[in-house]
Amino acid sequence: MTIAVNITTTPKQKPNADELGFGQIFTDHMFVLDYTTEKGWHGGRIEPYAPIQLDPASKVFHYGQAIFEGLKAYITVDGDTLLFRPDRNFARLNHSAERLCIPAIDEEYALEALKKLVEVDREWIPKEPGTSLYIRPFVIATEPNLGVDPSTAYKFIIIMSPSGSYYAEGINPVKIMVEQKYVRAVVGGTGEAKTSGNYASSLISSEEAHAKGYSQTLWLDGKENKYVEEVGSMNIFFKINGTVVTPELTGSILPGITRDSMIQVLKQKGIPVEERHIAIDEVIEAHKNGTLEEVFGTGTAAVISPVGRLLWDGEELVINEEKIGDVSQLLYDTLTGIQTGKLADEFGWTIRL
Ligand SMILES: *Cc1c(COP(=O)(O)O)cnc(C)c1O
Repeated sequence: MTIAVNITTTPKQKPNADELGFGQIFTDHMFVLDYTTEKGWHGGRIEPYAPIQLDPASKVFHYGQAIFEGLKAYITVDGDTLLFRPDRNFARLNHSAERLCIPAIDEEYALEALKKLVEVDREWIPKEPGTSLYIRPFVIATEPNLGVDPSTAYKFIIIMSPSGSYYAEGINPVKIMVEQKYVRAVVGGTGEAKTSGNYASSLISSEEAHAKGYSQTLWLDGKENKYVEEVGSMNIFFKINGTVVTPELTGSILPGITRDSMIQVLKQKGIPVEERHIAIDEVIEAHKNGTLEEVFGTGTAAVISPVGRLLWDGEELVINEEKIGDVSQLLYDTLTGIQTGKLADEFGWTIRL
């Protein structure tokens, strides 16, 4: 499969680093690949970023066959363009595709397309500390037909957005509300797929958290409402009495690539780490007896987000005096060091273009 390239004749003005924010500004180009049952995936092309036209009966609007990914490109300290574990994103996209009856994409081809797109829009990668180019690959069902069965047509699209420093004012621990009424996912559901519907169903909880002054929701398992699963768009870690614990992947948790990277870094540094069930009661108990040392979320957007306050059952736990902990800081420095080329990549996670 080839990739046609159609360069825009009207490039946009590039923003200043201080006006980037997250996901608001898009680069000059996008990658598009079409699928039909007859032709399979075909017609891969890089073209000027623009609105797409879809039939109002397109299945994605009615039955939610939509999956996505999120990763970043960075400019390293020596001026190279770097991607962090992009192969893992395309492998996960195909896992999500399988769950939603979407045809698999060729992962190697998708990676080639991504590399080419990033090269075409290389000037859009911001260079200031903490900034990066956020990349959003996604697949939507485009067959115009209201029958409830898998679509026979799809679009795979990659768009890119320069994003600002998540921690422009330093790393400030976030306030998280433990959700007790709604659930995000159950084993056997779509929790481990990166699908739009998971987010649609979680918005009400975020809204209620915001109204109480908390920035995100900590989800418990959907069956017993007892075990910790994850936070909003991040996986969650607890450091209890010197050991770092994160919920094991049971089928309802999104397998974060940052999560996996953190576990590998912890092991390499000789810091004890466990993947296991962790009940919210165990977290509360550890806080009571003074052994809850750090809590942090992990995800592509923020890398690490220390949790400073946790609301549970009307009671607020303050963690590590609302400061970033030593292990959180070490993990943040290690991962961002690898991503910016400041530290050697001993894991083979990075691809330089
Ligand atoms: C994407 C996502 C994560 C984090 O995954 P990363 O690969 O680390 O960015 C965690 N939870 C949910 C629900 C997600 O959608």
